[in-house]
Amino acid sequence: MRIRVDEIPEAGRTLRLHWDQADLAPCLPEDDPFDLKLIRPIQVELELQRHPDHVRILGKVQGRLELSCHRCLAPFEWRLDEPVDIFLIPQELAPGEEETELDVEDLDYDFFDGEIIEIDQLIAQQIFLALPYKVLCSEECRGLCPRCGVNLNEEPCRCGAGDAKSDFSELLSLRERLPDASGD
Ligand SMILES: [Zn+2]
Ligand SMILES: [Zn+2]
Repeated sequence: MRIRVDEIPEAGRTLRLHWDQADLAPCLPEDDPFDLKLIRPIQVELELQRHPDHVRILGKVQGRLELSCHRCLAPFEWRLDEPVDIFLIPQELAPGEEETELDVEDLDYDFFDGEIIEIDQLIAQQIFLALPYKVLCSEECRGLCPRCGVNLNEEPCRCGAGDAKSDFSELLSLRERLPDASGD
């Protein structure tokens, strides 16, 4: 969905959408580290406010996403509930490298061509911004055995390495990485 700035009425415009996998697909990065899927549409509520030198977009994105756990790689549901407050600034008003007039520290801002707002990209961006750096199916996720690869949340390790005390296996791998101290 795209919206022309000159079509936003003075009083602003409210968008309420159900946003689904088909909307998300073209906005996904090529190698999405989260393996993000929208099993059900998410709810998007945005209010577009037109100002002389920017467009402010306020609202929220809410729903349930499917992500892949970064530790055990299994898919799991993750609750998205993210407020939106973005300042869209026309590219031509972007400060040059020397200028730091714009106090952007506390602002969520983005630049655009000044005419067309790419709503889908903006929503996708908000979703990715909401995701933590590392997503886990649970804080206690035990991950995969580094040797036999079983999901330790679901079954016991077959090789024994996954059950070893983690302190001990870390020590072992540390020793393996150290240069041979025994000399010649
Ligand atoms: Zn996990
Ligand atoms: Zn194992």
